[in-house]
Amino acid sequence: MPHTSKLNLKEILSSARRQGWAVPHFNISDIAMLRGLVEAANELRAPILVGTSEGESDFLGRRQAVALVSAFREEHNLPIFINADHCHSVSTAKAAVDAGYDSVHIDLSKLPLDDNIAGTKKIVAYARAKNTDISVEGEVGYLVTDSSQVYKRAIAVPVESLAKVEDAKRFIKETGVDRLAPAVGTLHGIAANAPRIDIERVQAISKALGNTILVLHGGSGAPDEQIRKAIAAGIANIHFSTDIRLAYVAALREFIMEHPEETTPYKILAPAVEAVRLKAMEKIKLMGAAGRLS
Ligand SMILES: [Zn+2]
Repeated sequence: MPHTSKLNLKEILSSARRQGWAVPHFNISDIAMLRGLVEAANELRAPILVGTSEGESDFLGRRQAVALVSAFREEHNLPIFINADHCHSVSTAKAAVDAGYDSVHIDLSKLPLDDNIAGTKKIVAYARAKNTDISVEGEVGYLVTDSSQVYKRAIAVPVESLAKVEDAKRFIKETGVDRLAPAVGTLHGIAANAPRIDIERVQAISKALGNTILVLHGGSGAPDEQIRKAIAAGIANIHFSTDIRLAYVAALREFIMEHPEETTPYKILAPAVEAVRLKAMEKIKLMGAAGRLS
């Protein structure tokens, strides 16, 4: 079995920040997606963070999602962790901590900053009391889209939605989160126009925040060059969800159209697993996360 020296998420995130790469974050809705991601991570010897949104958590079950990820982690001796992505309330974030998530993302970014800070503080305290290894992520500024669709229209990201350096500083000082997701120009889903990541803003926030890990949401649709620049500017954890979902759904749709006689779900899902594996490998390499385990 290959030697994996570190199975601690916080240490891996710190290494990524120091060494100038990013820990990949991919969402899952089912075991087929998870299997494709694990195969990619295992083949490339890369740590990954697997996420479940509130909807995905409800569908999979929180305890069930934690158990699945743990089983794969143990089987492959692979640093694969699970994050409760975009918990929009203190209660869903607490439910994730209770279920044994390695990481929880409390996203109260639609609230006024004072309320965002107050709710996030509660989760930091709750998580620390349970397990000091849990990494807590907060969010400042807000993303203009909620769901990961492929939009046919161009979407503008207004400057007032982006994270302000002063707000990010205050948020970190008062909440003590491990990771911060600042809105810096990306969105959830893929718009008809390419996003433009505000690299100078990333640099300014990175400089102001010291050791806090910076997270980029909405990586899908962003040109590779912008992703590389964002990492160079200090981003150490990047979410790609829509790209993975697209790969999965396209493969599934094609197989079902071409094989209307097939009724065995694992055979129908096999091309989707493969499509997820390939897309995840592409993104893991882009983030510089391949071969980071030994
Ligand atoms: Zn997100």
